[in-house]
Order: sequence, then structure tokens, then C-alpha cells
Amino acid sequence: MKTLEELKQQTRPAPTGLAPGNPALYIDNDEQVQAATAGLIHYFANDDALRGIDLVVAGEPAGFLPREALYNMLEFESKGLGDGDLANLPGLPEYRLQILHCPQPGCNERCLVTFYRPEDAPFCGLHPTKHMEPQP
Ligand SMILES: [Zn+2]
Repeated sequence: MKTLEELKQQTRPAPTGLAPGNPALYIDNDEQVQAATAGLIHYFANDDALRGIDLVVAGEPAGFLPREALYNMLEFESKGLGDGDLANLPGLPEYRLQILHCPQPGCNERCLVTFYRPEDAPFCGLHPTKHMEPQP
């Protein structure tokens, strides 16, 4: 079981804060780490061009999480039952991240959450009054 602290240790400094247009993963506690890392594996698998994501822990930017860092992290724990079925993609296949978008027309900001509740949804980095929403 990975902790939030271990996940944060994998990030690289992000001197400019959140990069516009780059997806940010919002995570609040240790309980969400497993779902988040497993969900990220699928997210990266569906977007080959994506270099990594911005990590936001409890509302604070925590750095940039490169794709390789996530894979390295999972390499060490893929010894469980059924791992041979997914030899190229260790992790837990049942987890998916919810992708949220800014409702402002023309805004391309997006973010990832392990669990969506409208009242807890992150605000858009460019439109601080707009809660991010699932795509209709
Ligand atoms: Zn926006």
C-alpha cells in the first residue's frame, strides 16, 4: 500500500506551478492513493503523448509526477495474485479516474479525481469561481 507521502516523493519540482492544459490529479488522503495510481496507469495508457500529471495534494500543488516515476513506483509492488494477466500494466484494472473539465466555454483545463462530488470538485486554475465538472 502506497502512501500519499511516497507519491509526493516521486514528483519533480514544478517551478511555475500548474502548467496550463496539463491535467492535475487531485488527491486528499492515503486512502485515495491506490485508486489514484491504478487509475493513472490507465489514463497514461490512453494518452501516449502525456509526459506526466500535476499532483495536487489537499488543494496544494505538490509537483509534477512524470509517467516514468509512476511506473517505477508500481514495479516494486506487482507481486500479487493475477499480476501475470497484466504483465505490461501492473496495477489494479478496476480503478478509473474521473476526468473533470472547466465549464467555461473555450477553457481547456482538465483535472483528475478518484471520486467526484460536485461540492468538493476542484476549481479551474484559470477560472477560480468555476468548479470543474464531468463532461456532459
Ligand atoms: Zn477554466
